[in-house]
Amino acid sequence: MADTFELLGESIEAFRAEKSPVAGASASEEASAKSAAKRYRWINRNQTMIRPVDVEKLVEEDHPVRAIWAMVCQLDLNRFEQRVKVVEGGKGRSSSDPRLLAALWIYAYSEGVSSARELSRMCRHEPGCQWLTGLEEVNYHTLSDFRKCDKAALDGLFVQVLGVLSAEGLTDLKRVMQDGTKIKTQASRNSFRGEATLREHLKLAQEQVEAMGDPDSEELSQRVIRARQRAIREQKERLEEALKQLEEIEKSRKESEKAPRVSESEPTARVMKQPDGGFAPSYNVQLCTEASNKIIVAVETTQAGVDYEELEKGIDAIVANTGQQPAQTVVDGGFIKNSNVERMTERGIELIGPAAEYKPKASMKQRGLAPEFYPDQFRYNEHTNTLTCPAEKMLTLKRTYRRGDGETEHYYQAERSECADCAFRNQCCPKRSPRVIVRKEASPVVQQFRAKMRTEEAKQIYRTRSEVAEFPNAWIKEKIGLRKFRLRGLDKAGMEALWACMTYNIKQWIRLSWMPKFAAAA
Ligand code: SF4
Repeated sequence: MADTFELLGESIEAFRAEKSPVAGASASEEASAKSAAKRYRWINRNQTMIRPVDVEKLVEEDHPVRAIWAMVCQLDLNRFEQRVKVVEGGKGRSSSDPRLLAALWIYAYSEGVSSARELSRMCRHEPGCQWLTGLEEVNYHTLSDFRKCDKAALDGLFVQVLGVLSAEGLTDLKRVMQDGTKIKTQASRNSFRGEATLREHLKLAQEQVEAMGDPDSEELSQRVIRARQRAIREQKERLEEALKQLEEIEKSRKESEKAPRVSESEPTARVMKQPDGGFAPSYNVQLCTEASNKIIVAVETTQAGVDYEELEKGIDAIVANTGQQPAQTVVDGGFIKNSNVERMTERGIELIGPAAEYKPKASMKQRGLAPEFYPDQFRYNEHTNTLTCPAEKMLTLKRTYRRGDGETEHYYQAERSECADCAFRNQCCPKRSPRVIVRKEASPVVQQFRAKMRTEEAKQIYRTRSEVAEFPNAWIKEKIGLRKFRLRGLDKAGMEALWACMTYNIKQWIRLSWMPKFAAAA
């Protein structure tokens, strides 16, 4: 029999060699070989398979998920543990370990996942999550509730991570850069309403709450009825909050501004100017980043449409998180205001930022003034406290006005008769004669700041700002994908920002400390 097979094998080989296209098969034979049915491996889905899984081998030794777990295990999660009701020897299902839930969220954010449902799905198939959970599934409600359960506890966790980084010498508060970034809210612009509409909708919600009948008398299931009642109650609460927010905005509204509108689905959201020039409901996330390793040392989520009010709050947040204030803070023009320059000087913090340069206002052009007659063309004479115009006429001081931000405005006016007879009148004061010039005088502190910002050394420091300050902003938006908050409300959005920034810091720690140590030990 063996001989028969051998002979058969030889004859097949000979046949293949003879008939092979490579060996010069005829065109018709080649065509028939091509048209013959191909043979593939059979896919058998009617089978049950048991595979052994070595959980430890699901991820490599240097996988970031191991570093995340190592970091979380160094932290004190006592505040989160206090929420766990189930105890040893007691009734009920065991709770998920807060360390596991925290590590899962940090890992998810580092992978650009911010949805609780998606994270729950990942626990079924993604090796990093499977390693963390030990192949257990985690319900998305558990994940979702944990992420937003306690802002103070999360603040504490962020500070503890900073503590670990600081203990390893990765943070340095000699130079800190602050920047704000606008992140869109869940609320859309269509949800913004004026006071009258909000009151009308609140009245309707109140009527619905009062009309909520006895659950036992309804035909619907208890669960559905309870869900409906909760939805109506929540809507009423949101509308009440919207009216409160409206009152707050009204207090600081200028007369020239339009009547405020507030979102009825997310009352704390504010319409803010975006980097692309458009407007959208957003929160302003302020990040303070230390310059040595680009570690975020403070994160604040605010409703402020502009940055300058947030500078001192950022410093206060750094002090609260690290116990010390930075020696120097570097900011962009959005934070520069005379009052900020003075406050930073009072606090002993060196401020670096662009000094305001003279810019002719668009109104000068509209008024028909020629550039040769803009205010900067009028010479100031310190001895006589007068101005000299381009036609060599004198403007004398008429009044002085002290502004709240430490700046003093001096008003100088030319002689009426001199302007009336002047050959340049149409270029200098075509609409109103005589010419009035306002000379702004900053406080000595502001003048010192401006003088410092003209030095090459200060300019050089300022040039490094964008590389440091905008790096975490870009990372959080590009890698984590936090361009729009998933959670509604200022507090919950703030928690989302904290998770993202904590993840960013841990990724920096992995890159700067954990990986080098791992490589050295290997
Ligand atoms: S219009 Fe008056 S202020 Fe202007 S250049 Fe002539 S004199 Fe001077």
